[in-house]
Formats: sequence, C-alpha cells, structure tokens
Amino acid sequence: MRSEPGEPTAEIVPATGVLIGPEERAAVDRVLASGMLAQGPEVAAFEAEFAATVDGRPCAAVNSGTSALLLGLLAAGIGQGDEVIVPSFSFAATANAVALAGATPVFADVDPQYLCLDPDAVLAAIGPRTAAIMPVHLYGHPAAMDRLGEIARRHGLALVEDAAQAHLADLAGRPVGTFGEIAAFSFYPTKNMTCGEGGIVVCADEAVARRVRLLRNQGMERRYANEIVGYNARMTDLHAAIGRVQLRRLPGWTEQRRVNAAFLTAGLGEVAERAGLVLPAVAPEAGPVWHQYTVRAPERDRVVAAMAGVGVQTGVYYPTPIHRLPAYGLDLDLPVTAAASREVVSLPVHPALTPAQRERVVTALTQAIEEAVAA
Ligand SMILES: *Cc1c(COP(=O)(O)O)cnc(C)c1O
Repeated sequence: MRSEPGEPTAEIVPATGVLIGPEERAAVDRVLASGMLAQGPEVAAFEAEFAATVDGRPCAAVNSGTSALLLGLLAAGIGQGDEVIVPSFSFAATANAVALAGATPVFADVDPQYLCLDPDAVLAAIGPRTAAIMPVHLYGHPAAMDRLGEIARRHGLALVEDAAQAHLADLAGRPVGTFGEIAAFSFYPTKNMTCGEGGIVVCADEAVARRVRLLRNQGMERRYANEIVGYNARMTDLHAAIGRVQLRRLPGWTEQRRVNAAFLTAGLGEVAERAGLVLPAVAPEAGPVWHQYTVRAPERDRVVAAMAGVGVQTGVYYPTPIHRLPAYGLDLDLPVTAAASREVVSLPVHPALTPAQRERVVTALTQAIEEAVAA
C-alpha cells in the first residue's frame, strides 16, 4: 500500500484509540452542573460498579494506577526493609510503586511464552526479607496465578496483582484482581478503559480497603480527624463519571479486541511459520483481554520502521527492562527479559480499528517481515 507521488497518502492506522462519545460528555456535564467536582457520589458509584467485575471485592478509587499500587502496598503493610519480587519486563510504575513505598523491588525473569513473572524465577529470588510477589498481567494476559498463589501461601508472602492492563481478564473464569491480597487497575487513556487518569485498588480484606481510603485522603475518614499520615490521591467525580460510562462499554470493547486478535492470529499464521515471527500465546484456561497484541519479530526495529513507512503504527512495550533504566541502573542476568525487550512489537488491536485497518496491519507486517528477513 505504498502511495505513489501525487496519490493521497494512505490514512494512518493508529497504535491506540481512545473512544470518547456523547455519553462521556454528558456524564462530565452532569457533574459540572452539580457543582461538586471532587471525590463524591460518582466515585462511590464507580467503586460499587467496578466491584461487580471483581466478585464484589471492596474497591477504593484513586488518581492513578501508580497510586493504586503504592497505596495498596502501604495498606497491606509493605514498606521499609521489605523486598517485593517484580518482573523487570513491565512499565516502570510496577517497580516505582515498590520503591516509593520504601521497599526494594527485586527483579525476576519472565517466562518465554506469556512474558509474565516466571514462578521458578520467583522461587529463586525469595529471601529472608521478601514480603510480597507482584506479578503483572502483561498485555492483558493473566500471569500464572495458580502457581504464584501457591508459592505465596507456602512462603507466607503477600500476593499483589498489577492488573493495570487487564480489566476483565480471567483465569478459568476467575477475574484477575481477585487472586491477590490487593490488586491495582489503571484508567490511563491508553488502557482498555479510561477515566482520563485514575486507578483503583481491589482488596481481599475490608480493613485493608479502609486503610487505602485513609491513605488517599490525608488519613481522614471524618473531616479534620486525621488518623494517620496520608496523601491526596483522590479520584475526582469528573473522572469517575467518565469511568462509569467506560465501564459499561468495556465488555463490548473487550469482545472487539478478542475479534481483532483472532483476525491477526489467523492472518499472520503463514508468515509466522515461514519467517520466524512468534505470535502471542494464550495459556490454557486464560481469558486474555488483548491490551496489546504483541509479536516477537526478528529484526524488530527494521520491521517497525517498514510498517511506519506504510502508515501502520506499532508500539514497543518495553524497549528497556526496568532494572536497566537509569532510575535503577542494575546489571542483572535476566535472559528472557533481555531477549523480549529486543524482539517485541505490539500491533494495533484496539476496538476503534476498522476491518480495513485490521487487514492493512496483516498486509504491512507480512511485507515488512519478508523485507527484513531478506535484507
Ligand atoms: C499503566 C501501568 C501502570 C501505571 O498506571 P498509571 O495509571 O499510568 O499510573 C502500572 N503498571 C503497568 C503494568 C501499567 O501498564
């Protein structure tokens, strides 16, 4: 689909698409008209509605996914002197939340199939100061929660889920966010649903949820009766009102992501076979929600450039493992993480894609791989 001079350039196929419609606008207008903009009834309603997606567990909404992880860790009693085992193949916020809680992130490798925290690597990383294991449901694919849960129980560790990318994902019908003592979701615009910015902590225990509510609001339940030292990490009613609409639309979008992923898998099967492209695997009993559709490509950077040249945007999540970022600067031997960071490329899979755009993703990648392999 390369355009000739004088021909109109083909429309760009965007890597992400935020779907905001009249219902979101109306919801924001309703809150603006009420004159009550900060945390209030919309946040409470959003928490109750989100709780219905995680088996009714208590939920506390906050101002970001990072705050959800941080306040969740603090509420679970994790901090100074503790180690938390995290994957290095994730967004930096995963480890940042641990460090901001005053604990130390201990980076473990991921498994080569699903690129989520490897239970064997976790076992090897457990030491006397380990307090928690924090898997990430990367790209919307559930981590190995059965084995990780068993390891956590056997060693007396907390299990914390970074579910920022995995709204509505499940394992054997059990929703992610219901496996750990705490779980954190994000509502950043590129996630499967958004509030503009926002996050939510899902808690197994009502007492932990209460501590999150204190921590997000200066340590107050009753005004000017501050019980503990806390943050201002509240979600506003404006953001919650957007989130309530998005939550209603999320099941349909998730279905569309699944349809798009199935289309890509069917369309790319042949080039995968022929040119060494690795398509994303789905674990038995896993219900992924395709936050990203991530392939592993030989000559990844050349493939990315060739696709951009024909107007198909892609994303690389993540080009640098967290432990190697300047913020951490660690020299560790995590071979699966290192290989993944060189090879992964995420294709457009979001629900705003049109059938013609989906088709162009397959065509562009097939051509790009053939050129890269031949070069
Ligand atoms: C987005 C994301 C976060 C942080 O969420 P924010 O809402 O951006 O603070 C944490 N972990 C992972 C894996 C993410 O993708």
